[in-house]
Amino acid sequence: MNYYDFQVVLQEVPGEISLCFSICGCSLQCEGCHSSFLWKEENGYELTKAVFSEKLQQYKNLATCVLFMGGEWHKDQLVDLLKLAKNKQYKTCLYTGEETVSKDILNQLDWIKTGKWMPELGGLSSEKTNQKFIEITSNTIKNNLFIKN
Ligand code: SF4
Repeated sequence: MNYYDFQVVLQEVPGEISLCFSICGCSLQCEGCHSSFLWKEENGYELTKAVFSEKLQQYKNLATCVLFMGGEWHKDQLVDLLKLAKNKQYKTCLYTGEETVSKDILNQLDWIKTGKWMPELGGLSSEKTNQKFIEITSNTIKNNLFIKN
């Protein structure tokens, strides 16, 4: 499982400082995708458990959450990394373009963003978006956290 880049992000999971890994091999080909560099599986660098654990350790008193941009197509590896993050007391989130992902992945998540990117509908801050930001434990859609008053 390769990642294209790693960033610390503040807005993708409201209220959390997230370690964000963008995973290569997305096959959805959304119209207007801003991240077509993620389409090729072989792009980027291998996200080994060692690399991942090092990041968790490096940011352990600074960040609060681990966010994967994709990667559900590598179910077993993704589940393993999510478990590692949870063991280190990080919250977990997945942004996927799918409508849902396997139960094995959902069981390791605190939040999931579902839905393809559709330019005419916009992202989570749009009131007409097709995308959903869901809190897993309560199974509640929390898009309101992204909409500015
Ligand atoms: S899910 Fe994301 S990365 Fe994949 S094609 Fe759609 S916008 Fe691009």
